[in-house]
Amino acid sequence: KWEENRSVKRKEVSTNMKTPGEIVHSARIAFQSGRTKSLEFREKQLRNLLRMYEENEQEMLEALKRFEQKQNGSDFKEWAQPEKATRGLPNIMDEALIYKDPYGVVLVIGAWNYPIQLTLIPVSGAIAAGNAVVIKPSEISPASAEFIARTIPKYLDRECYQVMCGGVAETTELLKEKFDYIFFTGNTSVGRIIHAAANKHLTPVTLELGGKSPVYLDDTADIDVATRRILWGKCINAGQTCIAPDYVLCSKQTEAKFIDSARNVLQEWYGKDPQKSPDLCRIVSDNHFKRISKFLFNGKIVVGGTADAEERFIEPTILTDVDGTDPVMQEEIFGPILPIVNCENVDDAIKFINGREKPLAFYIFSKNKSQVDTLLENTTSGGVCVNDTLMHLTLPSLPFGGVGTSGMGAYHGKYTFDTFVHKKSTLVKTLNKFGESLQSSRYPPYTEKKLNF
Ligand code: NAD
Repeated sequence: KWEENRSVKRKEVSTNMKTPGEIVHSARIAFQSGRTKSLEFREKQLRNLLRMYEENEQEMLEALKRFEQKQNGSDFKEWAQPEKATRGLPNIMDEALIYKDPYGVVLVIGAWNYPIQLTLIPVSGAIAAGNAVVIKPSEISPASAEFIARTIPKYLDRECYQVMCGGVAETTELLKEKFDYIFFTGNTSVGRIIHAAANKHLTPVTLELGGKSPVYLDDTADIDVATRRILWGKCINAGQTCIAPDYVLCSKQTEAKFIDSARNVLQEWYGKDPQKSPDLCRIVSDNHFKRISKFLFNGKIVVGGTADAEERFIEPTILTDVDGTDPVMQEEIFGPILPIVNCENVDDAIKFINGREKPLAFYIFSKNKSQVDTLLENTTSGGVCVNDTLMHLTLPSLPFGGVGTSGMGAYHGKYTFDTFVHKKSTLVKTLNKFGESLQSSRYPPYTEKKLNF
């Protein structure tokens, strides 16, 4: 809603008028000046970023502040210190350290579905780690992109942190430049393009991608609680969440109980006419509306099913009699449609999940601990949440990221800082005669005595 209102009111989008080459060049000169490495400078920029959230609260999604700015506000100073590594007897007189070097000039490319949070959380980590940053927000959420482009230069150093707006053409140009790290959030097919572009310069990447996150629901679960938690994960942002539960795996028997419960829960949350509910948002674009609404022709609609192209509204919908080969099961849904695929037991579910690409999240609803353990031990996913959806994302102590086609690398909390530093192994040896005598066996001639040492 905020995005739509802002679009209506939008003044001219303030774009960085420099070319991609000029942006990266000036960010590199700023990095080479060494100022991004000063802990005081980093702290000041992070405090300014916090101030930007506080002073623009009305304009911004609150989530970012809640999530993790606090961690980067001051904890980063401790994380930035060289870390002492363990030493063995031969190095007892030496110092073994891991330095946290900033990579240099980092590119952060954001997605539209949580446009401020997904763009600025990595940016805060990159600043804390001492990098210069080029920020490319998503053009699909133009009001947020405009907000970032307009506001960041007011609060942060203008050379070290630069924003470039634009879509595919502009990003393609930007990607021709050499970066020292690229952090991308978006879909898997664009992730491949980013990876290929980074590969030309051997630039390391974090790819935060998407995929089909399954839910396993068995009859030991409290169905009413499970239903609320599954539907909340599916309906928030109208299913346009990277870790939204994509589909449910359960038996026919559990399916019947789930559907009964879902009807009650949806009625309680959104009333008789969900389109009038102020708590259901719309699909981001006409293209996405067309893509998602086609899925309403898969399987059998048992809950919901209405759609209105004019408003880009799709009612929360549950589909049964869905087959693994149906179109709705071939791509990430990213909308409020929840297909149910029947499986009779844990082994069937494991086979189904492992027969597909590795998901970003996996949700298990069961009170049977041994079944939960079997599922955890025999499947791989970016993350898992047992007996809830989405909530694993809220713990800064848990690394957040995908595996296989759902992504590479992870962030949140200290992991965000770690993403943006090169860990430089450093051994500092003494330079005295006694230390040298301890090591003399490494020098030739390799006499019998030395070889037996
Ligand atoms: P997207 O991949 O379409 O766009 C992301 C960014 O890539 C945008 O800034 C866009 O301008 C740029 N881009 C798009 N096409 C490009 C191209 N051909 N060349 C270069 N750059 C290009 O993703 P989206 O639609 O904004 O976001 C939705 C997707 O992102 C979903 O798949 C979702 O699961 C995923 N996602 C993942 C996470 C995560 O943390 N893992 C979070 C949010 C969204």
